[in-house]
Amino acid sequence: MTELRTLKVALLGCGNVGSQVARILLEDAGMLADRAGARLELSGIAVRNLDAPRDVELPHELFTTDAETLVKGADLVIELMGGIEPARTLILTAMRNGACVVTGNKALLAQDGPTLHEEADKAGVQLSYEAAVAGAIPILRPIRDSLSGDRITRVLGIVNGTTNFILDQMDSTGAQFADALAEAQRLGYAEADPTADVEGHDAASKAAILASLSFHTRFALEDVYCEGISSVSAADIAAAKDAGFVIKLLAIAEELEDTGGNTGVSVRVHPTLLPREHPMAAVRGAFNAVFIEAENAGELMFYGQGAGGTPTASAVMGDLVSAARSIVLDCPGRTETTTGQVPALPIGAAMTSYYIGLDVADQPGVLARIAQLFAEHGVSIEIMRQTIHRDAGSKVESAELRIVTHRAREAALAATVEAVKGLDVINSVTSVLRVEGV
Ligand code: NAP
Repeated sequence: MTELRTLKVALLGCGNVGSQVARILLEDAGMLADRAGARLELSGIAVRNLDAPRDVELPHELFTTDAETLVKGADLVIELMGGIEPARTLILTAMRNGACVVTGNKALLAQDGPTLHEEADKAGVQLSYEAAVAGAIPILRPIRDSLSGDRITRVLGIVNGTTNFILDQMDSTGAQFADALAEAQRLGYAEADPTADVEGHDAASKAAILASLSFHTRFALEDVYCEGISSVSAADIAAAKDAGFVIKLLAIAEELEDTGGNTGVSVRVHPTLLPREHPMAAVRGAFNAVFIEAENAGELMFYGQGAGGTPTASAVMGDLVSAARSIVLDCPGRTETTTGQVPALPIGAAMTSYYIGLDVADQPGVLARIAQLFAEHGVSIEIMRQTIHRDAGSKVESAELRIVTHRAREAALAATVEAVKGLDVINSVTSVLRVEGV
């Protein structure tokens, strides 16, 4: 039997994910060698603090603070430090030295993906990042490889476990946003500073990556329209529930024609109503899922743990074995194609349905006036329901109106809502939320 060659693996970072990656590399060395066709030797682990406690017991001599030297001697580099610098420079150095790179760094990819991909292409090495979107869920490789002979038309993702946990808590207990967030922090699902999660920035980075691979065009963070969940109230959740919907923070990427008939891609993150029977509505707690619509495959759904050291390490290991095989076979392969070159559409061009809650005066002709305003803006109403509120003496006090529209341009919907607000019979607009899956 021929002797397997040895590939040197440099690990940058030994936190939640890195420590589990190191453990698997050491514990499962035999299995990994079989799968990769080469021995994967952990040559060192770069960290900031050599004496910091680790989740996993690892040989002390593997640790170093000299990440640059470690990277220069490696065949494969796993970047799990996070942040932009020095991660970016170390990845570029690794690729220029001929090493394949595996990373979970969505923030870096969303900010500077094009530079990293260009360097990987120039150097003829693999750059892979399955762990960057939806943790353990194999989603980027299916989009990039399994669906490369199909045409993806739409992607809906629950790609942030923290916000899904918070919205699920609000839905199941009736809690306000602040209380659900505090519970998420108590259980370790949300960080002390939850801004990146609750304002949708983390999901937006992942949306940029999903859209880039799905539509073969490099989209950056600034192409993603982003609204978080901090303004979703318990009243919104209750009204949605009452109307048969659940609210989820969705990352959406879909191909559309703009008003001029040109094809583009709308990439956006916002709280979204989904019918309770939609498969994505069943994604509870901190779990993630990605729902794909493709021309020939039809509807596909991928579900699993979107974070956590060990689940995320599984995605890293898959990329590592694949990169090692590419070195053994001397065939780097392409990690993405960018021949699509479709523009990102502004939010006004997005096609969506709206749920609108209105507190209206109970007068004759109110419904007709509202319906006429919708018609004037070219927005067609799918459902209109009125609930009358009476006082103790059975006198009508006000009426609550709930409207769900058909899909229309976001700009037309927003203009309709503005016009409705101007009607003298409207006491208040209680909610305006986008709807998918109807
Ligand atoms: P983490 O627990 O904060 O660990 C970061 C590690 O990087 C630490 O070991 C730290 O060293 C090291 N490090 C940071 N800056 C460094 C520097 N300048 N030089 C050398 N070492 C440095 O992070 P994590 O949760 O494992 O996440 C790692 C990456 O995976 C991030 O890009 C994250 O977005 C991504 N990711 C994480 C998850 C998850 O569930 N955690 C899921 C998907 C993707 P010290 O220990 O010495 O401080």
